[in-house]
Amino acid sequence: MKILVAVKRVIDYNVKIRVKADGSGVETSNVKMSMNPFDEIALEEAVRLREKTIAKEIIAVSIGNAGCNETLRNALAIGADRAIHIPVDQDVQPLMVAKILKALAVNEKPQLILLGKQAIDDDSNQTGQMLAALLDWPQATCAFKIDVLQDKARVACEIDGGLETVDVTLPAVITTDLRLNQPRYASLPNIMKAKKKPIETLTLDQLSVTIRPGLRVVKVTEPPKRQAGVKVKDASELVDRLRKEAKVI
Ligand code: AMP
Repeated sequence: MKILVAVKRVIDYNVKIRVKADGSGVETSNVKMSMNPFDEIALEEAVRLREKTIAKEIIAVSIGNAGCNETLRNALAIGADRAIHIPVDQDVQPLMVAKILKALAVNEKPQLILLGKQAIDDDSNQTGQMLAALLDWPQATCAFKIDVLQDKARVACEIDGGLETVDVTLPAVITTDLRLNQPRYASLPNIMKAKKKPIETLTLDQLSVTIRPGLRVVKVTEPPKRQAGVKVKDASELVDRLRKEAKVI
């Protein structure tokens, strides 16, 4: 089985996000970037499927500026067999990514496409669903457990009050949730080996895809600052304030 894993380069989750002064977006220059955490989980799952000899080849793909090469290098060190960079200079939106991944899937013919359930920069949670719709493939989202059984995958996902299990016929699109696995760190020898592996570049022209933004960012602002708390002298003042100021009772 061939698995395609979509890995997005995002601002590292430890970085305190700064909004640009003109409100056009968030500051990305001189900011630590990393692989989207949900995509690390998707890649880890693919590597585990290869270790179980269910998967033969893992292809990591990243869409975006030249920085994606670093993310793909990391994907190779973690265990991807091949890496494909699709250069796009503008901000990539979920529908654009889904169209690009569809074109790639038509060329590569994977039996499984793994994506994170969401990218932590836009929090869209849309790309996997759009991709499945464009390909007309079954989809299972927010995977907590994946078992591949011949021509189908059994996927459990956490829902309110329990687990929901669905069977999807392969080829399928699966998006991964946080508790699916604990991604491994790339070992030093694998990091060294990954440096020698080539990263393929495929242009939108080569994929015969044209993309245009369907969304326009109007304004980006910081969340409102939290107001300082106050100390009340007794319970009756608390109740009084909750009633008159907070209007919650
Ligand atoms: P989103 O729908 O934007 O929340 O993203 C969901 C998933 O789609 C991510 O976790 C990635 O697996 C994939 N994805 C989104 N954007 C990209 C990108 N530019 N390059 C590669 N994969 C992406």
